[in-house]
Amino acid sequence: MVTGSQVTPEEDKIQFSLRPKRLDEYIGQRDLKGKLKVTLEAAQARKEPVEHMLFYGPPGLGKTTLAHIISNEMGSKIYATAGPALQRSGDLMGILTNLNEGDILFIDEIHRLSPTIEEFLYPALEDYKVDFVVDKGAFAKVINVPLKRFTLVGATTRAGSLSAPLRDRFGLYYHIDFYPPDDLAEIIIRTASLLNSYIDSESAQMVAMRSRGTPRIANRLFRRVRDYAEVKGDGRVTLELAERALDAEGIDSLGLDNLDRKLLKIVLDYYKGGPVGIEALAATLNEEADTLVDMVEPYLLKIGFVQRTRRGRMVSAEAAKHLGVALSGGSQQGLFDK
Ligand code: ADP
Repeated sequence: MVTGSQVTPEEDKIQFSLRPKRLDEYIGQRDLKGKLKVTLEAAQARKEPVEHMLFYGPPGLGKTTLAHIISNEMGSKIYATAGPALQRSGDLMGILTNLNEGDILFIDEIHRLSPTIEEFLYPALEDYKVDFVVDKGAFAKVINVPLKRFTLVGATTRAGSLSAPLRDRFGLYYHIDFYPPDDLAEIIIRTASLLNSYIDSESAQMVAMRSRGTPRIANRLFRRVRDYAEVKGDGRVTLELAERALDAEGIDSLGLDNLDRKLLKIVLDYYKGGPVGIEALAATLNEEADTLVDMVEPYLLKIGFVQRTRRGRMVSAEAAKHLGVALSGGSQQGLFDK
């Protein structure tokens, strides 16, 4: 099942084409943009590479986009990879030795690097060198390879899962939070124009309200709305058509999709509102626990529909009300009031 934030290769291609290239085109996140601008300008003035930096926050909020923007703004090349893709130190060695002064190495899902690769990376980050072991046993030799001064940009959905030594090697940390509807509406209007389409601001605002604070979802929902308007109308997106399109997609007024509602309902019906452990919940839903933690839960936590406690997940009375689940006095132990 493809949830709101998951990406298929086709989806990835379209989202890539929609990426803003410069910092000025990047919508919202004003605070972060302001700080980043100062950092980049200072590095440019000193003619030095930017410090290693880490972006953390839920998927689809623009971490990869920012890494590419940094490389464009600094006029350097970017090499993009992901934690799980780096299996052997030899792979990383090849990448590192090909980086030039100021180039960006972008590692997505950096919390998923293996401990061996992480350790291999430490001297590269700190002293711009790597110790590479050749041969085995009595013939083993450590070759010290110097590197050019590059910048590591890491992205993670789980800052808490990063090992302390790795975290300490970043000079800059930026948290990316969910976007308010006004910023998402602006992103939707920009996307419409890039796709040679049009959406009025009222409809854009409605789609934005249902985009779970996430640009990637906003872009995806806009395309569903556009398709619907082309098939069911004359191609122009009206508020009514947009609403019908999203209803048909199973996206409700708060942007919750089938999986969100299923999760909430299961906690309410099976577990009396909670608390329920994430593994038990994943098993009941037949989903990976990681999918729930990375893709589904963050927005439900953000809007106060789910609470994470030491004993497990709990669902709020407000969520029950949104789903129209009747509360039978006292039987739903876990329900909490926001
Ligand atoms: P992440 O790396 O955090 O998962 P991405 O950088 O891949 O997210 O962004 C997902 C999509 O959302 C991209 O296609 C990009 O076009 C769009 N996007 C993200 N942030 C912004 C923004 N601030 N302004 C405009 N579009 C954005």
